[in-house]
Amino acid sequence: MSKKFTTKVVHAGTDFTNHFGALSTPIYNASTFAFPDAEQGSAIHEGEIPGYFYGRINNPTQEALENALAELERGEACIVFSSGMAAISNAVLTSVKKGDHIVAPESIYASTSGFLRHLEEAFGIEVSFIDATNPQKYEAAIKANTKLLYLESPANPTLKLCDIEKLVTLAKRNKLSTLMDNTFATPYNQNPISFGVDVVVHSMTKYIGGHADILAGALIGSREFVERCRWHTNKFFGGVPAPMTCWLAHRGIKTLALRMERHNENALTIAKFLESHPKVQKVHYPGLKSHPQHDLAKRQMRGFGGMISFEVEGVEQGRKLVNNVELCTLAVSLGDVSTIIQHSASMTHAAVPKTLREKAGITDGMLRLSVGIEDCNDIIDDLSKGFEKV
Ligand code: PLP
Repeated sequence: MSKKFTTKVVHAGTDFTNHFGALSTPIYNASTFAFPDAEQGSAIHEGEIPGYFYGRINNPTQEALENALAELERGEACIVFSSGMAAISNAVLTSVKKGDHIVAPESIYASTSGFLRHLEEAFGIEVSFIDATNPQKYEAAIKANTKLLYLESPANPTLKLCDIEKLVTLAKRNKLSTLMDNTFATPYNQNPISFGVDVVVHSMTKYIGGHADILAGALIGSREFVERCRWHTNKFFGGVPAPMTCWLAHRGIKTLALRMERHNENALTIAKFLESHPKVQKVHYPGLKSHPQHDLAKRQMRGFGGMISFEVEGVEQGRKLVNNVELCTLAVSLGDVSTIIQHSASMTHAAVPKTLREKAGITDGMLRLSVGIEDCNDIIDDLSKGFEKV
């Protein structure tokens, strides 16, 4: 039976034939599992037959979550991690080795670019950072040792997009892998695997968890790639989430569609409000006609998400706004049911040198708003009062 996404989120990963018919998959707080006998123990240990043996490899609560995410992102399989960065580092290091070359956007989540720079300095993996809004820049950066095209779309915090279809075509033509961070869009709004992307990563700390109470990550791709991560990369790195975290993420998924519907609606209304405000110089939101890639957004996204960035005059004005709002919480992170505001230049991107930051489009006066699911008139009132002090 072909089900709609709103139905899928409610049921994905739930298996009544196991777990005594429990509607909510139990939290298996077990680090190790007994083998029925030596022969089966050895086969389970080698991954030759299904089963559990040690929590660093898998766990039934974790597996339920992985099955749900694989279904929602339309991939063959999924593995979950203790954070989004654990998912990203695993995905990259399963894709490349010493001497390989990666092409990545110059404007992405700061810890991801920090990680890629670290690979270059410490492990001899080359990285070229390019303007990812232009597929020709990816093409021009490809070299004989290129193995991976990295995509993040919409990007944090600039809301710039990558043309997924064109980049997949380019990768296939050059026999390269594609890896995409889909955290901002979520599978409600965008499914990169349907465009041919090889591997999708998520910070589940954000929309998938949805309630600012977990740190977790996920990677979705071919069964072969996922199993390589499970039995090789992450077996050694060990970045596994606790069973309780998996259960919370799985519970979050059940309301993902409802929450995203409201996040999308609220964000579009607030983006229009910001665009009309005299103290706002620029608004970046893929759902606005003024976004330079609005047509592309309509082609590859079903909704435009809950993330907006906008620019006021400078650092001082940005600080004043975040210090004079009440309902919007001043915090890092995003994707929570409540609205979160932050000033990128003094917070998440403070560690990025100003020249690199500005090259990536992150100006001194840029603010990032993770629009929650509150009544959007209350958020607009709060922002309006804050602007009076700017
Ligand atoms: N990817 C994006 C787009 C993010 O915004 C973040 C965190 O903000 C991450 C990855 C990293 O996720 P985590 O903090 O769960 O490690």
